This record gives sequence, C-alpha cells and structure tokens, in this order.
Amino acid sequence: MNDYRPTQRAERPIDWVNAAFLTATPLVAVAGTVWYAWNFGVSWLDFANFALMFALTSLCVTAGYHRYYSHKSYECSKAVQLFYLVFGAAAVENSVLNWASDHRYHHRFVDQPEDPYNILRGGLYAHMGWIFYKDTRDAERRFSNAPDLMKDPLVMWQHRWYLPLVVFFTFALPTWIGLLYGRPVAGLLWGGFLRVVLVHHTTFFINSLAHLYGEKPYSLKDTARDSWWLAPLTFGEGYHNFHHKFQADYRNGIRWWQFDSTKWWIVLLTWTGQAWKLKRTPEPLILKARLEVQKQSVAEKLAAANASERTWRRIHARLDAGALRLQEAHESYLHAKAEYRHRYDEWTHEVRRQWDETLEARRAEYESARERWRGMMAAMNRLSQPSAQGLATLTALLDLAKHRL
Ligand SMILES: [Zn+2]
Ligand SMILES: [Zn+2]
Repeated sequence: MNDYRPTQRAERPIDWVNAAFLTATPLVAVAGTVWYAWNFGVSWLDFANFALMFALTSLCVTAGYHRYYSHKSYECSKAVQLFYLVFGAAAVENSVLNWASDHRYHHRFVDQPEDPYNILRGGLYAHMGWIFYKDTRDAERRFSNAPDLMKDPLVMWQHRWYLPLVVFFTFALPTWIGLLYGRPVAGLLWGGFLRVVLVHHTTFFINSLAHLYGEKPYSLKDTARDSWWLAPLTFGEGYHNFHHKFQADYRNGIRWWQFDSTKWWIVLLTWTGQAWKLKRTPEPLILKARLEVQKQSVAEKLAAANASERTWRRIHARLDAGALRLQEAHESYLHAKAEYRHRYDEWTHEVRRQWDETLEARRAEYESARERWRGMMAAMNRLSQPSAQGLATLTALLDLAKHRL
C-alpha cells in the first residue's frame, strides 16, 4: 500500500451508458436471482448454466482478449480466434480492439497519468471508476498502438458487430440454455446477469487488487504484484508482477504448482494443433530478474541502516559473487538438461551413464549455489532493525561465507 496516492478527479465526461450498465447489472443480478429463487427455487442446472457461461467468457477474456490479442504471446487458428471474439464479447468488456488498446497503454504507461486504469488514482478508480468516463480521443489516435488489430478482419468484424454479439451471446444464449431445461428466466438471471457481473469484477480485480496486494518477486519498478489467491478467481491472471515484467510470455504463473488455467488451456490447444509458437521467457532471464529484486531489497536495507561506503561495497561484492555463481550454475545445469534431452537417443549405454553423472553433478552444484544464496538472503533478512552493529555482524558472516564459496 506504500505506493498508494489519493484519488485525483478524472477530467473526462461521464459515460452514461457504461455507468448505467455497471450499476444496473449488479442490481438485477442480485435482486433478480434472490426473487426468482424465493418464488421458483434453484436448480443445479442454473448453477451449471452459470458455470458454463462463466468459464467460457472468462477464458475468452484471459486467453483471448489478454494473452492472444493484447500481447500476441502465441499463435492460434482462426476457429479459436472466432471463439475468443464471440464469447469475449459476451463478457461485456468492450470490443477486443478497445480492450487490447487500453491494455497496451496500461503496460506501456503503468502507474503514469496515461495508464487508463492507473492504480495511483485510487483502487476504486482502477477497479471500475475509469470505465465511468468517456474516452474523448479520436479513433485514429486511440488505436495507434493497435495497427495489427486494425488490419485483422475478424477483429474489425467483432468491433462493428459488438452490440448484436453482446445481446445474443450475453443474454439470449443463457436464456435459451435455460429454456432447454424449462427455466428460461433462471437461465437469463444466472447465466446472463449474475455471470456477467462476476466476470466483470474478477477481471477488474487484476487492475485493482493485483496492483495493491501481493509480492513483487520479479520487478520493483511498478505496482504490479503476484497474488496467488487471486489466481484461481481470475483463471491464472493473479501472477501479475511476473506478467508486467515478462508480458510477452503466454504464462502468468510459471511454476507447475501455480494455478494458471489459461496457460493450461493454451497448452491444451497446442496438443490439438490449434495453437503454436508459444512465447516463453528463457529461465536464465527469470532468475536474473529475481536476483536483481533481491539485491535491490538488500540495497534498500543498507540505505536504511546508513551503512558506510566500505560496508556497502563489501556486502555488494559478496552478493554479486553469489548471484553470479548461482546464475552460472543454473545455466550450466539447464544446458546439460537440454543436451541430455536432445541427444539421449543417439548415445550408447556408456555415454548415457556418464551423462547421468554429469547431470547429477551439475544439479548438485546448482542446488548448493542456491543454498548459499538463500543463506545470504536469510542473513540479510535477520536484520529486521538495521543497525551499525547488525551490519558489522552481517559483513563478518558474509566474510565467513566467502571462504566457503
Ligand atoms: Zn497491470
Ligand atoms: Zn497484460
């Protein structure tokens, strides 16, 4: 919350259509479903209708509007693009041309006045307040950051037919699904109104909560944060610090244990030949970013403790050496792994046995460099109240570690 500044007044005129829609839909969603449930009960098929529409529209926003159209983090077939455009429209978050253009401005000018959902204007403004104001720029200026999308006939088709698509896929489709099980009004309320409100706010959480709460493991440059608890709600978009640092990557949660259902969907598309050319940030770059952040937080502690120039230089020299050793061990392990994978089939039994040992040795070297680095960071973090005495103990500890390096 330390980067949070008070809300400034937006100078743009109110967009009454957006304001009315964003205010009326939650009212209809809550009052309507409660009233209907009171009079006609709730069927598990209402939940199923809701879940189906929620999953389809959320996915088309995250995998389509966001990772495909805004960032072009992979390539996909025309059929998949059409699916993204149709169900993306049903999220009622504007046409993809508008959405992706705004989002590209967000990345380019994050936390600056030109950021459409600038968190420094306040959490509520970044969440949904910004949608209450009209964008007064002319189309040519506004979409100057999306020439690729302007040239895409499918994108322009969706932009032109956005309203009919909204009416049909947001409201008519869930009503029709409801009709199939004899509850069209429940279908409209659950799969239409309630679902659209929840898709809205889970998307908006990324612009508000993911810029307010969570960790910053990959970059301290902006307000974006990794929030593991936001990830399941947002189809994996909660790992927002990683995303802002490496926006071209098709993944947001890069570890296997991090919840990122959008990433899993994209991988699934590759298995069926519907997606290809997935962009992945090379592992060494990811490690480098993490180490930079950790070194930066040490620098902040040293500055807070008024460390002398000599202490500062000694600590930094130790940290730089530790970081370099870790990066080298990591690269050499990755290289051995790649070699092992690519050439395994052509090797004789004896060569394979030798490589098993090489791989194990490099893994052990990497693990030990990691342990040492963790030890250094733990020593730094023990300095909860930075003081001259604490720093003296720390430099002594790091000097000791030097002999073990
Ligand atoms: Zn962001
Ligand atoms: Zn993005």
